[in-house]
Amino acid sequence: MADSSVADVDANALLDEANSTSEAQGEPKFTLELNQDQKDIREWVHGFAEGVVRPAAEEWDEREETPWPVIQEAAKIGLYSFEAMGQFWADETGLTLPIANEELFWGDAGIGMAIMGTALAVAAIFGQGTPEQMGEWIPQCFGTPDDVKLGAFCASEPDAGSDVSGIRTSAKYDEAKDEWVLNGQKAWATNGGIANVHVIIASVDRELGSRGHAAFVIPPGTKGCEQGAKVKKHGLRASHTADVHLDDCRVPGSCLLGGKEKLDERLARVREGKKSKSQAAMQTFEASRPTVGAQALGIARAAYEYALDYAKEREQFGKKIVENQAIAFDLANMKLEIDAARLLVWRAAWMGRQGHKFENAEGSMSKLKAGEVAVWVTERAIQILGGNGYTREFPVERMHRDSKIYTIFEGTSEIQRLVISRAISGFHIK
Ligand SMILES: Cc1cc2nc3c(=O)[nH]c(=O)nc-3n(C[C@H](O)[C@H](O)[C@H](O)COP(=O)(O)OP(=O)(O)OC[C@H]3O[C@@H](n4cnc5c(N)ncnc54)[C@H](O)[C@@H]3O)c2cc1C
Repeated sequence: MADSSVADVDANALLDEANSTSEAQGEPKFTLELNQDQKDIREWVHGFAEGVVRPAAEEWDEREETPWPVIQEAAKIGLYSFEAMGQFWADETGLTLPIANEELFWGDAGIGMAIMGTALAVAAIFGQGTPEQMGEWIPQCFGTPDDVKLGAFCASEPDAGSDVSGIRTSAKYDEAKDEWVLNGQKAWATNGGIANVHVIIASVDRELGSRGHAAFVIPPGTKGCEQGAKVKKHGLRASHTADVHLDDCRVPGSCLLGGKEKLDERLARVREGKKSKSQAAMQTFEASRPTVGAQALGIARAAYEYALDYAKEREQFGKKIVENQAIAFDLANMKLEIDAARLLVWRAAWMGRQGHKFENAEGSMSKLKAGEVAVWVTERAIQILGGNGYTREFPVERMHRDSKIYTIFEGTSEIQRLVISRAISGFHIK
């Protein structure tokens, strides 16, 4: 018989050696175990989601209004703040941001988006702004706990959703005044018109398509930037969505994210036929996809947990419905799909934070999978709850309505598949 203790010692010694070598080389060892900071943040956000967000979910879904008091509660505990975002982002593994989003959206997605919608504007300023612009505008997206504010990121237009190259909103430079003049209409903007700070993607040279886009900050109270129609929605109803109109909207030259010199250099490169590093809107989406996937996961997990508890309580034909293989297998598959999606989300978040190139569109994969899992899991949850699942007395129908947007915004499922198929094949799939 082999001496297992010797084998164990050898294996441990080898592991230690391998770990110390990789650590010495500055490479963190692979682990899926969360560190104490991550666990603490997860618990903190979960506590807020359970104690404050969930109890308010039904009311704000029915009212279809921005839940200002809940956002203020989040600001008071520091969750809705520049500092919290910075802390989530600072985690070198990249996992804290998706973990916090999953927990918050587990509480409720509509309120979750009312709290996190600002992050899209922040991501754009963070990704494309100069340090001065970040310092000036990001805090203004949040305001203070006594006077909370919101940010809005406006790329989509009535005729430019999936195809951002169709953006017609124009930005023209008035050299004499060092001002940019914006004209156009933005559609479906989260927090559009009620935000303190709007980030607008506009075309500075239409002939260049999406490579001629730039991102502009519209400071609070700027004339010519107005809310259009507020959209009534299928789900995510506590989150405000509206058109934004820009009519001769003048902003100082300093509101161009990244600055004019950088823009001129980039446009010159494009005009010479050289590859531009990235496009304004696409940069923001690429960085935010795993986070958006994590939000979908939160909804899916909430519906799965609700359905599991229900199936263990509900009796038909003299037994718990979970004792039927049909129900139990559905629940097993729901759990399986959620966990699989989370691994894709964590991988993409980790890659993004390490600065790894998404060779196979791993960011898109994570959002695609998590969004589709959320729609499927929430639909199954309704089925498991039967008639109750279909009523507004039980939360799974709301979760199902909320989940659907995750196959539409930040790139529809079809667009994610397009991105992935192009990445893996090298062909320009249409
Ligand atoms: C609640 C909500 C919040 C939003 N928040 C924001 C926001 O904050 N900021 C913002 O800028 N935008 C926002 N949007 C807009 C959102 O990003 C767009 O709705 C989305 O990108 C899809 O664009 P579209 O609606 O024009 O659909 P379309 O582009 O018209 O697509 C319609 C259908 O055609 C398919 N399709 C299109 N092109 C192709 C193709 N090449 N191959 C295969 N299929 C294709 C699509 O997948 C889809 O199924 C929001 C939308 C909603 C509903």
